[in-house]
Amino acid sequence: MIIANFKSNGSKEMIDCWVKDFKSQIQDNVASVGVAPPHIYIDKFYKSISQNDLENIKIGAQDVGAGSGPNTGSISSAMLSDLNCNFSIVGHSERRKNFKEDNALIKQKIENLISFKLTPVLCVGESLSDFEEKKTYTTIRMQLEECLKNISIPEDIIIAYEPLWAIGSGKTPSPNDVNQINEYIKDVVQSTTSNNYTPKVCYGGSVNVENAGSFFKCSNVDGALIGGASLDGKKFALIANKFNRNN
Ligand code: PEP
Repeated sequence: MIIANFKSNGSKEMIDCWVKDFKSQIQDNVASVGVAPPHIYIDKFYKSISQNDLENIKIGAQDVGAGSGPNTGSISSAMLSDLNCNFSIVGHSERRKNFKEDNALIKQKIENLISFKLTPVLCVGESLSDFEEKKTYTTIRMQLEECLKNISIPEDIIIAYEPLWAIGSGKTPSPNDVNQINEYIKDVVQSTTSNNYTPKVCYGGSVNVENAGSFFKCSNVDGALIGGASLDGKKFALIANKFNRNN
């Protein structure tokens, strides 16, 4: 799956332009495409893709609350479901850093999403210092174990490997390194979860039209989570075309 994360960007006008731009370039399968607009534009996005015969695009949220009720300002899984969402990103490094979210909270969010039949897209990845100290594998193992221990995960769960030093920096690990780390993630998830399911694993971090194909050729890369390059509907469609040609 190719997932767009608009982060805190966009407007009603931007959404309409994005959908038209995307439509002008996408060649075929939009079922492999997911888009996470800001919560407040999810319904606008749904209406815009419906009006443009693109209703097979999956809609998601960039984050979700761990439950409903007395939690001012929080958006619940039930609300996402009501707004035709299929998935929610959880554990994005910006949520972990800027909103102090830890693995225990992320686990609650995942369990809540699963109970509403929404697909969790769980982000994991090492910081620059972890990377420099060669702690990539131990960091990822800890994140996966603390977020998924003894959970029965749905078959469509997605793990996004996102090294923090690659997000928005223009730097990326080599496709070969990503392939090996994604394979490791599959093994850890398989042995950590109660139903021993092997998940799909995407890569995220400075993916663009130029480098996307080199990641999609890797056998353990099942898609991409894309921030900056997803804001341009034409560019995002070109990346989705590359993914569809490889699969
Ligand atoms: C992200 O924030 O998840 C991300 C992958 O961003 P970018 O593509 O801009 O590096």
